[in-house]
Amino acid sequence: MATKKKAVKKATKKTARKAAASKTTKSASSNKNVYFFGGGEADGNGSQKNLLGGKGANLAEMGLIGIPVPAGFTITTEVCTYYYDNGKKYPKTLNQEIEDNIAKVEKAMGKKFGDLENPLLLSVRSGARESMPGMMDTILNLGINDQVVEALAKKTGNAKFAWDSYRRFLQMYGSVVMEVEAEAGEHHDPYEVILDKAKAKAKVKDDSGLSAEELQWVVAEFKKLIKKRSGKDFPEDPRDQLTGAVNAVFNSWNNDRAIVYRQKYGIPAAWGTAVNVQAMVFGNTGKTSGTGVAFTRDPATGENVFYGEYLIDAQGEDVVAGVRTPKPIAKMAKDLPKSHKELLKIRTKLEKHFRDVQDVEFTIEEGKLWMLQTRNGKRTGFAAVNIALDMVKERLIKKEEAILRIPADDLSHLLAPIFDSAAEKAAKKVGNGLPAGPGAASGKIYFSAEESVKAAAKGESVILVRQATSPEDLRGMIAAEGILTTEGGASSHAALVARQMGKVCVCGAHNMTIDYAKGTLTGNGVTLKQGDELSLNGFVGNVYEGNIKASPSQVIQGLIENKAAAKKSATYKKFMELMKWTDSHRKLGVRTNSDTPEQVEQAIKFGAEGIGLTRAEHMFFEGNRIDSVREMILADDDEGRAKALKKIKVFMKKDFKGIFKALDGRPATIRLLDPPLHEFIGTMDAAQKKDLSKKIGMSAAAITKRIHALHEENPMLGHRGCRLGISYPAVTATQVEAILEAAADVQKKGTKVLPEIMVPLVSYARELELQKQVIDETAAEVRKKLGLKKSELKYTVGTMMEIPRACLTAEEVAKHAEFFSFGTNDLTQTGLGLSRDDSSSFLQTYQDAEVLNNNPFAALDQEGVGKLVEMGVKGGRSTKKKLKIGICGEHGGDPSSVKFFHRTGLNYVSCSPFRIPVARLAAAQAALEEKGMARGEVS
Ligand code: PEP
Ligand code: MG
Repeated sequence: MATKKKAVKKATKKTARKAAASKTTKSASSNKNVYFFGGGEADGNGSQKNLLGGKGANLAEMGLIGIPVPAGFTITTEVCTYYYDNGKKYPKTLNQEIEDNIAKVEKAMGKKFGDLENPLLLSVRSGARESMPGMMDTILNLGINDQVVEALAKKTGNAKFAWDSYRRFLQMYGSVVMEVEAEAGEHHDPYEVILDKAKAKAKVKDDSGLSAEELQWVVAEFKKLIKKRSGKDFPEDPRDQLTGAVNAVFNSWNNDRAIVYRQKYGIPAAWGTAVNVQAMVFGNTGKTSGTGVAFTRDPATGENVFYGEYLIDAQGEDVVAGVRTPKPIAKMAKDLPKSHKELLKIRTKLEKHFRDVQDVEFTIEEGKLWMLQTRNGKRTGFAAVNIALDMVKERLIKKEEAILRIPADDLSHLLAPIFDSAAEKAAKKVGNGLPAGPGAASGKIYFSAEESVKAAAKGESVILVRQATSPEDLRGMIAAEGILTTEGGASSHAALVARQMGKVCVCGAHNMTIDYAKGTLTGNGVTLKQGDELSLNGFVGNVYEGNIKASPSQVIQGLIENKAAAKKSATYKKFMELMKWTDSHRKLGVRTNSDTPEQVEQAIKFGAEGIGLTRAEHMFFEGNRIDSVREMILADDDEGRAKALKKIKVFMKKDFKGIFKALDGRPATIRLLDPPLHEFIGTMDAAQKKDLSKKIGMSAAAITKRIHALHEENPMLGHRGCRLGISYPAVTATQVEAILEAAADVQKKGTKVLPEIMVPLVSYARELELQKQVIDETAAEVRKKLGLKKSELKYTVGTMMEIPRACLTAEEVAKHAEFFSFGTNDLTQTGLGLSRDDSSSFLQTYQDAEVLNNNPFAALDQEGVGKLVEMGVKGGRSTKKKLKIGICGEHGGDPSSVKFFHRTGLNYVSCSPFRIPVARLAAAQAALEEKGMARGEVS
């Protein structure tokens, strides 16, 4: 029998895959809206996440590989899109398709929906392409009414279970579908108030202590509550219940939480969600039942241990909601040995099949194990690296897939600071909980999401402290450096979301108490108020009073500080190995934006292959140097300017020498001065003017007068960049002297130097032509002075591409350029007509209104500004086929932008030192994606 079943399953799998693949393409025309799964068969399969959502596709896939899944069906994401595109109406055939599939589920489970003998109950859940934990709505136990509950009690012989299921259903249906929830000013959930009353009357602590009769009272009270507040009767007909629930799930795609989540993770609204309707199985029927969630490996560290928790006699949401504290999965071996053994087998099977860490939900109903969900587990950056590299060793995946699997941005988790161990030892520990999000965070405590957002906007470092978080807290969690909860387990909402965001998180610190009314947090005899400092160690789960000094991560200690102990750590070793792999695949070069020798040294350790941008003006912020720049700007004749430039040249030359030495033969793109005037003279107060007056021999009144004369309404679009060099060629000449004299000095000592002199803010080819003349003439003079031949002091001249006109006329500009470097900060500013300094006030509104998916100054606007980049590349290379082209705006360290630059054919990206590992990884991913590889598709 067993072998026969296997053979059937294999055949089913093959044919189902084929059928499903053709169905995916045909679905729009054939209008198949509902896909069945269960009983060893499925209409769809795991590859159809776009159509069935992640949950639906994987339920189908589990069904196909012989894992026990309660039967059900998936209403596709296309129905969701249709629903929104057609004024919340459904395709005409949908009702009938649902009816047909209910019949199939009834057959597979041997129960009937709405039946008064052996009733089938259903769960209704959302399931988008990418999981959005807790953001959308779920309804469990659907299909109960006053008659069905009696039938259920009779059939199971467990009246308490039947009434408990009924009250849970009412609670969910009432709040989600009928929208009866806590009202404004009401501090407690009205359903919980009724439950608390029942528990007080019955003198029990937990919900599970209530008897069937007491639960019956709760059900009656819930119904009264719903009727009173909504003005409507709760629908007794199971079909009506189902329609309401499906509507609610589709509507929840556009609730506030889901929108915030989509924005954060760049999920397009057009994707829509699927709805999964599935037969209920019950973990709350007594001591041989239970429910749990697990990861096939530790999602915080990546360690290869089965990691999860479960509750006996409970339903799914109890584990995640943190209402009862679950037990670690290992204990299941004693409580439910048969199911535990089976679960371990499924763990291995799932990892082998999906070739990735799985995050599973399961339920045991009277000794029978059912898998309710599997999906690739969300993990921290640490875990992502560990798991990917371990899986290569275990031969589950190839190196290429390991590279594709690690979200490039998450590499920054490995570079995040950790507490100084001496300072941590000295700190007063006020509590501890589960280490749910690794890293070290210190900040001021706030007890609500709202306060956290406000404090973070003021620039404070915030620790959000909650008993438990809920999806409503999302904005606060985004704003906080760290999150502390006093309730809930390792898979509570706080833990899941924090892990995904890479936030430091300690959860379930049971030895601490929060008093929201008083605004206090108490632990170990210490009471802290809102605004007091707290520190979290998310690696071990410790909570400390005060602000603990943090120190660099192991990767930083090993890589930058050259510490032997850190170099032995697994994290360091794996990080280094991964970086080696990325370099063997990427085509894009990775350079750094650095202005000092120290930054350059650091960047090289991170893997920089040269400098893509040194901003000359950034050398002037140190010590009193700014005085000379101010003197130069304020000078109203050539003589005064020359005097100031002489001073400037001295420290410029010194700095360039340091930078060239640190580069040790690598190329250096040095951008000529680009000082927006307001950054240098716009902010001077009276005392500063007085001080400067003494130093430069110009009266304070004269300084004020000159500042007024130089005042610009739009300094970002004013007399800056090459415009300054064209007005005052001596400004350019002095810098070129400093660069080339420094190069000659360093070269003399045996270090190769490759200066690339870059002209900023070019709009017209003629601007570059004029500046190149000055550069070449000055270079000739420097060579003459130093007695060097042309071949003995080399340099190249290129331009920033940061004004749309330069991109539109790139073929002309390229005539005078040996390289281009896109300044995407200014190109975004000028391309969008959006100030890079002032736009933050409405960017959020724009993201809320879905005008923007991302902040365009962080992730390149590929459709708009990207087009300018493409034109610049095309135009430039039409004049000079091999023109070297890079990018040095902030986007050089943003993974999605790096991939775009790869596709556009740039030679390198340049970013700040700490973003270099991220850029290297993203560049390797881009190269692999170009070969047609995608995450999960490398075999
Ligand atoms: C740019 O505009 O992208 C750039 C790198 O220059 P800056 O940020 O100095 O204006
Ligand atoms: Mg710029």
